[in-house]
Amino acid sequence: MRRVAVSACLLGCSCRYDGRDNLNNTLLEQLKSYEIISFCPEDFCFSTPRPTMDLIKRDNDVVAVSNETNIDLSEPILQYAYDFFNKYSEIELFIGKDRSPSCGVKSAKVYDAQKNLISTNGTGLMAKVALELGIVCWDSEVYMATHNHTS
Ligand code: SF4
Repeated sequence: MRRVAVSACLLGCSCRYDGRDNLNNTLLEQLKSYEIISFCPEDFCFSTPRPTMDLIKRDNDVVAVSNETNIDLSEPILQYAYDFFNKYSEIELFIGKDRSPSCGVKSAKVYDAQKNLISTNGTGLMAKVALELGIVCWDSEVYMATHNHTS
C-alpha cells in the first residue's frame, strides 16, 4: 500500500499548540487508498499545549523562533523530521497542515528580524525536509481542492 505522511492534527490528534485538533474527514476520505503515517514535530519536541512560534528569516536561512522565549527551536524540529523520514523511508506523499511553521508547504508566514511579515507562502521546517528528500508535498487545503473529484 502506498504511504502518505499527514500532519497528526488533521487526523484528529489534539496536538495543536492550544490542545485542539484540525480533524478533516474529507481529507481522510480522499486518502483512503493510502497507508497513513502521522507526524507532529511540535508535540514530540515541546509537548502540548505549548507557546506558538514563528518563522523568521535570518541571513539566507529561515528559522523557527518561540514567541515566548525568542529562542531558535529549529534544531529539534529538523532532527525529528530527519528521524521520521529515516524510519519511514517509503513515504511518497506528504500532506501538511496549511500555514503551520512546521508543516505548511507553501503557506507559512515568514517574518524578518523586526517581525515584519515578508511572505505568506513560506515552507515549514518539516515540510522543507520532505521537499529536500524529493517527496511530493501538498498543503492539505490545496490537496483537497485539487483532488476533490476522486473523493
Ligand atoms: S500543524 Fe504540524 S506541528 Fe502543528 S499541531 Fe499539526 S502536526 Fe503538529
